[in-house]
Amino acid sequence: MIGPIIAPEDRLPRTLVVTNDFPTRQGGIEAFVAALSDLFPPGEVVVYTASMPGDAAYDAELAYPVVRDRATTLLPTRRVRRDVVAAFREHGCDRVLFGASAPLGLLAPALRAAGAQRIVALTHGHEVWWARMPVTRRLLRRIGDEVDDLTYISDWCRDEIGRALSPAGRAKQRRLAPGVDPDRFHPGCGGAEVRAGLGLDPGVPLVVTASRLVERKGQDMLVEAWPAVRAVVPDARLLVVGDGPHRRTLEHRVRTLGLDDAVTFVGARAWKDMPPYFDAGDVFAMPSRTRLHGLEPEGLGIVFLEAAACGKPVLVGRSGGAPDAVDDGVTGFVVDPTDTAEIAARLCDLLTDPARARAMGALGRERVVRDWRWEQVGATCREYLDGQTVSDAV
Ligand code: GDP
Repeated sequence: MIGPIIAPEDRLPRTLVVTNDFPTRQGGIEAFVAALSDLFPPGEVVVYTASMPGDAAYDAELAYPVVRDRATTLLPTRRVRRDVVAAFREHGCDRVLFGASAPLGLLAPALRAAGAQRIVALTHGHEVWWARMPVTRRLLRRIGDEVDDLTYISDWCRDEIGRALSPAGRAKQRRLAPGVDPDRFHPGCGGAEVRAGLGLDPGVPLVVTASRLVERKGQDMLVEAWPAVRAVVPDARLLVVGDGPHRRTLEHRVRTLGLDDAVTFVGARAWKDMPPYFDAGDVFAMPSRTRLHGLEPEGLGIVFLEAAACGKPVLVGRSGGAPDAVDDGVTGFVVDPTDTAEIAARLCDLLTDPARARAMGALGRERVVRDWRWEQVGATCREYLDGQTVSDAV
């Protein structure tokens, strides 16, 4: 029997998201790509990504198919190109979204040849590095020429990445910054329970920081600033959420400074358990800095948006696009991330004036609910995939 004939123009569009960064790995790009994928209407998205621990259980909960390549890091090799193209065809896709432009955007010509009508590639802080090194710079330029739209997360990233692109590539740059889910991250989303679990009184002044623990995220400067913070707020505590290569150095420094009773490391937490940690503090602080002569900046910092959504004032380091995440002096403070005295002073300002801290936090939540919701981000992304790029924010 012959089934109903569906004219191509009546078929639902279907996007293949090609990404090395996806849960269960943790990080900003992973969070961004997962949130965008979750926002597609049913049946309109398929994800192609790498294998990673715990992936089968994670994928089983999703409303859309995820194809896991056997590689744990997805690179644009000949074999991966063949398998991505096969998945594109097998799932009847007609569009492609690259979770990060570099390097997987190099697969664009093969996917175009396989019938991709629209190709959108995201960029993050990571492509700033690509834009600055001679060989990768040329590859990024090529990617910019091949795709239809190349997104950026902050004006700073747009300018840095734009330097590597051809004039035609620069004309394809469109803003697509990550967002936050204010229904998951909100005041009262479990912070009291976190405090109780850690034996912290509701009244203990608490600063929270959360990220992969790598040097540039600036937790070391919080630790260095802590003796000065304690001199003004003797019972102030610092809660460090996350794990990473820098953790041992941080723990060692905490011991050397005699701060064991003031600084608590809770390690990495599962995605679903993150919001209560942002809610637990009075202030969120991450004075990230740019490392390696500008090659490793903070692209934006989703954590600042998550903390603001929980109604917390945020302390942000002046690095890359991070200042975009805060309204300086209104919803938090932007500080020199290498200046422990300034970091300590701003933390003390907030900890000694809880009413002001709460007011700034409330304005921060208003700001993210107004301008930084995932629904808006998803709608903009779909406009780009539809080819409706007249709303270009450049
Ligand atoms: P990036 O990792 O440098 O891209 O930093 P961002 O601040 O942009 O994004 C980090 C993301 O990882 C945010 O959504 C955080 O909530 C999340 N995150 C930070 N620490 C942890 C952790 O310990 N566990 C989990 N599951 N997520 C974390």
